[in-house]
Amino acid sequence: MSETRIALVTGANKGIGFEIAAGLGGLGYRVGVGARDETRRETAVEKLRAVGVDAYGVPLDVTDDRSVTGAADLIERRAGRLDVLVNNAGISGEMDPGWVQDPTALDLEVLRTVVDTNVMGVVRVTNAMLPLLRRSASPRVVNVSSSVGSLARQTDPDTAIPIMAAYAPSKSFLNTLTVQYARQFAGTGILINAVCPGLVATDFNGFRGPRTPEQGAAAAIRLATLPDGGPTGSFFEDDGVVPW
Ligand code: NAP
Repeated sequence: MSETRIALVTGANKGIGFEIAAGLGGLGYRVGVGARDETRRETAVEKLRAVGVDAYGVPLDVTDDRSVTGAADLIERRAGRLDVLVNNAGISGEMDPGWVQDPTALDLEVLRTVVDTNVMGVVRVTNAMLPLLRRSASPRVVNVSSSVGSLARQTDPDTAIPIMAAYAPSKSFLNTLTVQYARQFAGTGILINAVCPGLVATDFNGFRGPRTPEQGAAAAIRLATLPDGGPTGSFFEDDGVVPW
């Protein structure tokens, strides 16, 4: 019998992260539900267990060094290794009406919080989990990004992407970080990719969006379960590669 694979999904208490956890659980993974709020975390764990997922709660605030270290310690104790890390937790930062962030009026505190969560949070969590990932036979890291971070799409004259001066650059930063990690991981077997879930109706955008969280989770699940020798250092959406 093959060994149960171990996953951690950050921001898994709701939205796309919850569905990534559910999808991996459905594939037989033991899933750590990374979430910062105890009640929301335990509710999500119960919902996942109710549908047969081998889920357990991992207290995790991606902006907090001690919380992240504690999460790594917990997974070390419970599983001894990590096969899949999905860096899903993310925030938009405060938006003006029309879902716009005007760079000329950007509150630096908003920028700082967005970068701390969407960028530094990923580095914090990935680096804390690396010793556990290195014990896996086929480690996978998925960074949940957004096509709004694509410079090619932002600069397309016909772009429909609104100006989002904190959020969009945070995802561009995350994309280039993904490439840096992929280069550093070359030859190690660790595959790391960025993914855009599409426009998904979640709390994140006031539930505006044509896609369901389950649809949004699909590409991340595919990247989390790539075979050995699969792509790394790329940026995907459902239809294929997203241009940088
Ligand atoms: P969501 O429903 O708002 O979920 C975001 C999750 O991130 C929540 O679980 C939230 O936890 C968690 N989170 C935020 N800050 C955190 C922190 N400091 N530590 C730990 N967890 C934290 O949003 P979503 O739409 O599912 O978004 C998930 C990811 O998809 C994000 O990275 C987002 O940028 C990306 N994305 C979304 C869309 C879309 O259309 N929805 C499009 C492109 C990309 P709490 O419940 O505690 O706040």
